Amino acid sequence: MALQIVTIPCLSDNYAYLIRDEDTDQVAVVDVPDATPILGALKDLNWSLDKILITHHHYDHIDGVEDLRTKTGAKVYGAKADAHRLPALDVELSEGDTFELGTEACDVLDVSGHTIGHIAFVFKNAEAAFSADSLMALGCGRLFEGDAEMMWGTMKKFIALTDDTLVYSGHEYTASNAAFALTIEPGNTDLQSRIEDIKHKRANDIPTVPASIGLEKATNPFMRANLKEVKALVNMADASNADVFGEIRRRKDNF
Ligand code: ZN
Ligand code: FE
Repeated sequence: MALQIVTIPCLSDNYAYLIRDEDTDQVAVVDVPDATPILGALKDLNWSLDKILITHHHYDHIDGVEDLRTKTGAKVYGAKADAHRLPALDVELSEGDTFELGTEACDVLDVSGHTIGHIAFVFKNAEAAFSADSLMALGCGRLFEGDAEMMWGTMKKFIALTDDTLVYSGHEYTASNAAFALTIEPGNTDLQSRIEDIKHKRANDIPTVPASIGLEKATNPFMRANLKEVKALVNMADASNADVFGEIRRRKDNF
């Protein structure tokens, strides 16, 4: 039992992902910013697409869905709560639902905050999570629809995954996220060494995603709002985790 995952850069800084179950040849894509590069990758790999998995309603994640559906006949999966503003769904999903990609089970998490109705796709056996604009490498999505309380709840769902789970997020924002993270925790040595790795990758045009939950827990300030040392650094020693998260998010919005 194994999944093969291929990262596909789309538009200026989006990522889509192809996922193939090696046992059954079933293939899914997570998000469709643009159908063209995804169709190109499917052709190069000689894979045929079965499922289109949508994380949330923003155009840079769904614009290519109808084109890709028409050209591949794949079934479209997305959040029931967002069905009114997503392309027509063949399968409506809610938190706690599970479906199969071949032999691999995929759990659906509600990861609202960036938008309400944002979902993530978690393959527990393969230790792979597709988070789009909820948890991002060294960051998290802006709170366009939800609030700090809601997004902190989402962070906790990611914290609960195994440290080895790899997180595949929706954008290449890591370099600017890193510069911000350093303003919160300048003395975090794990963060400092991660930043060296990010610089090397970007200089060589290598994606900085995926990154493991363990690494995010050690370096991503949004995943660390519950820690004493982080609360002290933002002068909120006695504040709630969600309030500290909210303060870090506000600082990032103004960064
Ligand atoms: Zn978005
Ligand atoms: Fe996005």
